[in-house]
Amino acid sequence: MTSSEPTIGFVSLGCPKNLVDSERILTQLRAEGYGLSPTYQDADLVVINTCGFIDAAVEESLDAIGEALRGNGRVIVTGCLGMRESHVRAAHPEVLAITGPHDYEAVMTAVHAHLPRPHDPFTALIPPQGIKLTPRHYAYLKISEGCNHRCSFCIIPSLRGDLVSRPIAEVLGEAERLVESGVRELLVVSQDTSAYGVDLKYRMDFWRGRPLATRLTELARELGQLPAWTRLHYVYPYPNVDDLLPLMADGLILPYLDMPLQHGSQRILRAMRRPAATEKVLSRIARWREICPDLVLRSTFIVGFPGETEDDFDQLLEFIQTAALDRVGCFAYSPVAGAAANALPDWVPDEVKQDRLQRFMEIQAEISRDKLALQIGREITVLIDDVSDERIVARGPGDAPEVDGLVIIEGAWEGVAPGDFMQVQVTGYDEHDLIAEPL
Ligand code: SF4
Repeated sequence: MTSSEPTIGFVSLGCPKNLVDSERILTQLRAEGYGLSPTYQDADLVVINTCGFIDAAVEESLDAIGEALRGNGRVIVTGCLGMRESHVRAAHPEVLAITGPHDYEAVMTAVHAHLPRPHDPFTALIPPQGIKLTPRHYAYLKISEGCNHRCSFCIIPSLRGDLVSRPIAEVLGEAERLVESGVRELLVVSQDTSAYGVDLKYRMDFWRGRPLATRLTELARELGQLPAWTRLHYVYPYPNVDDLLPLMADGLILPYLDMPLQHGSQRILRAMRRPAATEKVLSRIARWREICPDLVLRSTFIVGFPGETEDDFDQLLEFIQTAALDRVGCFAYSPVAGAAANALPDWVPDEVKQDRLQRFMEIQAEISRDKLALQIGREITVLIDDVSDERIVARGPGDAPEVDGLVIIEGAWEGVAPGDFMQVQVTGYDEHDLIAEPL
């Protein structure tokens, strides 16, 4: 935890259902970058998930609120007792906000209002596009913190430290509770997902009475047993990723890999101190597609890194044309205070960076369009994000929330709600999104 993180104290009272709500709120807080404090003194704010089932539980909840007010002063109340707002206010008029049970969206809104979320573009794992609360039907599942690499443009290891993986049973327990609370898509995030468990030497843990290694393949296989989609983010092309492809081909996890590759020139990748070699990445991608033809690959790249020549940039363009990735983000390099890359010579002028960025995006737009065109006629399962009188907004296996495209189903449809799965046939596409009809 860094001192810059806004930090929350959390008290969970009551029954197992309340505990599931607490887990959901804590997951969201952690995914948004809030720190958690075991003491009132070190927290910027305290959330109390209360119980109001019997008189003794009401008393216990009111006592806990009083204790938190004395120990910290800034308290948000949620849970069953929150339904009796006047009762809480009568005892503790100074609480900041009161929300009811199973309403974690309202709790998060109250937290944001009193302790703004700490979006840091250099460390956040959740996309910056107007970060909103994840709807009930998808959730981020953070499997580790920190990173063992030392990419020259990145300061995450100095902020977050080396890789620390969560034991596999803890992650699976959280995933299971999220699914029980209505989540239909788990978005696995970390700084370096393929390295999961390396720090623990893939230590054995116990899950449902069985020994299980703390390793990505095992985690993916177990997550695949849950009645929800599993989507993997920030996966680097290490050899162990090969083991995930059969799981995708078998439909256990989504055939989707979010793999930040950053460049296509070996020279620039070395200057960036990136782990993977371009040639190997290309042959690996080809092999993956043989195993799982539906695989959707997302990646991000940086143009205009210090020392990037026109030749390096051409290699990058050649790389993206050969790799034919489905979803691509590209950024013009901008220095981060404290990053080792700042000491590199031969900075690329801004206008050259912008020119390269534009050329890159034009080529990739064509590749992405061709990829979308190939979807026409296909029958896919989509997960519904939103339903209105005019249309359904959904996403397919190849569309991560917030960053990828959508699947639009025009018209008013009865009996469907966000979080439902639906079978559709793709009938068209526009620049980013697919158009489809229900089957
Ligand atoms: S892999 Fe590189 S870019 Fe990613 S967090 Fe680690 S050091 Fe930063």
